[in-house]
Amino acid sequence: MKLTVLGVRGSIPVSGKEYNEFGGATSCILVETAGQAVFLDAGSGMLKAPRTEDKKVSVLLTHTHADHIIGLGLSPVLLSRHDVDIYAKTRDGLNPYEQIKRFMSPPLWPAPVEVYPANVNFHEFGDSLELGDFEITTMESNHPGGSLVIKLKCEGKTIVYATDYEHTDEKNDELAAFSKDADLLFYDGQYTDDEYEKMKGFGHSTVREGMKVFQKSRARRLLFVHHDPRHDDEKLREMEKNCGDKNASFARERMLIEV
Ligand SMILES: [Zn+2]
Ligand SMILES: [Zn+2]
Repeated sequence: MKLTVLGVRGSIPVSGKEYNEFGGATSCILVETAGQAVFLDAGSGMLKAPRTEDKKVSVLLTHTHADHIIGLGLSPVLLSRHDVDIYAKTRDGLNPYEQIKRFMSPPLWPAPVEVYPANVNFHEFGDSLELGDFEITTMESNHPGGSLVIKLKCEGKTIVYATDYEHTDEKNDELAAFSKDADLLFYDGQYTDDEYEKMKGFGHSTVREGMKVFQKSRARRLLFVHHDPRHDDEKLREMEKNCGDKNASFARERMLIEV
């Protein structure tokens, strides 16, 4: 599997030279095999997606908070004439199509999804899914309004994407078991310990808690994601030092990873 990190900023996109190293685009990671392109979330990072029309294209949404879907509207994925499958879980009585439509229709957005060149099919995202080369399972995260932790298995390798996740001891145990022996774990490291004290219940976590899950899961590599929009490169480098493990670091936009 080849991974391209297209966006790792949380909550709101940011720009400016102080964000150059880690990047300002919101959640989007592209996972590719020879014949498939699977996007994990569709944040503003999706605008920089490479051409994927020659592959079977799927978009797996952890949830539909704006920072995870704002890239759809101008992404090459919807602006190309091909089939796209979007998976999300029904929330608040709204199916995946209704959730995207609520955001991508006037007065919030000028063009409904139907007018794009791509032929978009919406699907309910359940507990498990066979998707060509990929075997996918999900776990409910701990996040306001709900979010999914996504596990992809392919070519004998395992990736777990746990963004928009707030820790509890019980949930950490569940996530560590879900991520057991994964080759790569993405984890929500939005807050410092001090910030977390003021932001409890907002649905995000810390480096300290991520390291606990990482150690317990025995995953091979950890990358923190969902960087707080108020954290510049200097702050993120300082937070990264607290990982204290050569296999744990903060994800950077434009990273290419072979798993
Ligand atoms: Zn988010
Ligand atoms: Zn969220």
